[in-house]
Amino acid sequence: MRTRETASIVLVGLILALVSGCGITFSRSAATPTASPSPAPVTIPRPVPEPNYAVQDCGVSGTAKSGKPSNVLLTIDDFPSEHSIASGQKMMQIADWAHASGVMMEAFPIKAKLDAYQQAYHADVVSELRARGTYVSNHSFSHPELTKLSPSKVKAEIQKGVQSTYLRPPYGDFNPAVKKLAEADGYRVCTWTIDTNDWRLVDGKYPSPEELVKRVHTQLRTTPPGSPVVILGHYFTNYPLALQGIVDDVNAFGAHVCSAPSAPVSEAVPFPLC
Ligand SMILES: [Zn+2]
Repeated sequence: MRTRETASIVLVGLILALVSGCGITFSRSAATPTASPSPAPVTIPRPVPEPNYAVQDCGVSGTAKSGKPSNVLLTIDDFPSEHSIASGQKMMQIADWAHASGVMMEAFPIKAKLDAYQQAYHADVVSELRARGTYVSNHSFSHPELTKLSPSKVKAEIQKGVQSTYLRPPYGDFNPAVKKLAEADGYRVCTWTIDTNDWRLVDGKYPSPEELVKRVHTQLRTTPPGSPVVILGHYFTNYPLALQGIVDDVNAFGAHVCSAPSAPVSEAVPFPLC
C-alpha cells in the first residue's frame, strides 16, 4: 500500500512537471494525501428564494446599457467523470486557469463520484476548488432525472448533494414539484441560457474546442441585449479546452465575463452572483 502511494505521488509529480512545462501551474495539494476529513454536517444560511425568479439566470444579472448581452457566467458540470487522480488534477487545472484569468467559474460536480474520488485519493476537491475561488454547487448526489423520482427521493438527492445555495438539476430536468422541494431547502434552481451540446458525439467524437467556441459565438449574438448569459459545458468533453477561446470571443464581442472572486469562496454562493 505504502509503495503504491509513493508510486502515485511520483507519478503525480511527473504529470505536474509535464503540465507546468506547458506554462500551466497549479497547486499539487489536491493530489497530496491528507487525513480524511470527518464528514461533519454543515448548515449554511439558505433563505428561500423569492417567487418567480428566472431559473436560467443562476444569479447573473443583466443590464441593457451596452446593447449587448451583459454578464456571462461559465459553468462546468459532471466532475469527476473518471476514477483517476488525473481527474482531480484536471479540475484543479481548470480552476487555476479561471483564477489566473480573472474569470468566474461555477462547477456542478456529481457528489457520489466526488465521494468515491475523495475516499480513493484523500483529496477534498470541493474545498480545493473553493480555495481557488471556484464556486461549487449542488448537482444532486447520483445524477438521476429528478422528475422520475418520488418526492422523498428527490429530497434525499438534493440533501446528499454538494452543500450550496444553487441546484442544477441533472439534464436540466425539473418540474414545479422538484423546484418547490429545492426551494424548501433554500436552493435556487439554476439551468443555463447557452448550451454548447458538447457531450453529443459527432462521428464518434466530441465536438472540437473550435466548434464549441463557434457555437457559443453564434448563440451569444442571438441573445437579446441586456440578457444574462449562463454557458453550459461539461468537464469530460473538449469544453475545458474551449474555455479560453470562449472568453476571448465574449470579450471581443463586448460582453462581460463574470469576474473571479478575489478571495476563497464558501458553500453560500451569493445572489446576485455577478
Ligand atoms: Zn450533469
